[in-house]
Amino acid sequence: MKINQSFISVIVPCYNEEEVINHTHKRLTAVLSKIKMKCEIIYVSDGSDDKTNSLLEKIHLNDNNGIVKIVFLSRNFGHQIAITAGIDYAKGDAVILIDADLQDPPELIPTMIEKWKEGYRVVYGQRKNRQGESRFKLFTAKYFYKTLTYLSDIHIPEDTGDFRLMDRKVVDVIKSMPEKDRFLRGMVAWLGFNQFALKYDRVERYAGESKYPFWKMVKFSIDAILSFSIKPLRIAMLLGFTSSIVSLGGILYAITKWMIGTPVVGWTLMFIAIMFFSGVQLISLGVIGEYIGRSYSETKNRPLYVIDKKEGFI
Ligand code: UDP
Ligand code: MG
Repeated sequence: MKINQSFISVIVPCYNEEEVINHTHKRLTAVLSKIKMKCEIIYVSDGSDDKTNSLLEKIHLNDNNGIVKIVFLSRNFGHQIAITAGIDYAKGDAVILIDADLQDPPELIPTMIEKWKEGYRVVYGQRKNRQGESRFKLFTAKYFYKTLTYLSDIHIPEDTGDFRLMDRKVVDVIKSMPEKDRFLRGMVAWLGFNQFALKYDRVERYAGESKYPFWKMVKFSIDAILSFSIKPLRIAMLLGFTSSIVSLGGILYAITKWMIGTPVVGWTLMFIAIMFFSGVQLISLGVIGEYIGRSYSETKNRPLYVIDKKEGFI
């Protein structure tokens, strides 16, 4: 493959991004016109219900170079699935994922391509600092990555998002991974290949609000941990063993007290013990349930997303 004749796909997931989308398009096209390579921009509207869809239609109509393509999903499927839909339709030799809100600067794309030309199969953005994000988000993000690295047996680089360039080889393997609970940055880390961390400053959202409220973030984190590790099951077992040992201590204590003639009286201790062990059991059952639920949704084998319509694809 001759790099200069290569084809670059840029995937932009959009969920209710009416306030930024035009600006994003302007900045993206300005960058892409400079790199002098064949390009396509695939906007994936993830069930937007504001003006995003009509703005995207307009962008497509005014696109004289024929580089804009749009996939409209039938409802909101979530960021990771929206990216997956984009990846499925991308034709590029290199595929770039970038958020619509300009938190990831499009101006870094040429550097990513340069690194790709040097032979890296993946160039992922790693945040040096993150402006405009609450202390709470920074704190939880930090500990989330630490926990994830501890629990899963693969190293998922800290402070990375989905802003990245992937070579066609990587994209093809990702496409062959049909799992439903998708944590793309983890899947790419799991693949191996030679990867380059491109440090950058993550700026504030250009406009609009984050589409990742707290609970969506919690769900995302649980998905990430459970789809990369079975350690929580082992922890449940460990918790079981520990509580058995503790209860053995309790039994020995009660027997000794009885033998020396001062038997343990009262129900407080018993009540606490029952509550504690029921807690351990319920948590363990919950953990097992999470894994069973996941197996269930995998076996249903539904498609990952449903497309309402496509624009710009030949
Ligand atoms: N997004 C999406 N579907 C969703 C939520 C978000 O396609 O259900 C898109 C969103 O439009 C943006 C990107 O995913 O382009 C990242 O979302 P956001 O900026 O809200 O997340 P944050 O940067 O706050 O983590
Ligand atoms: Mg954002």
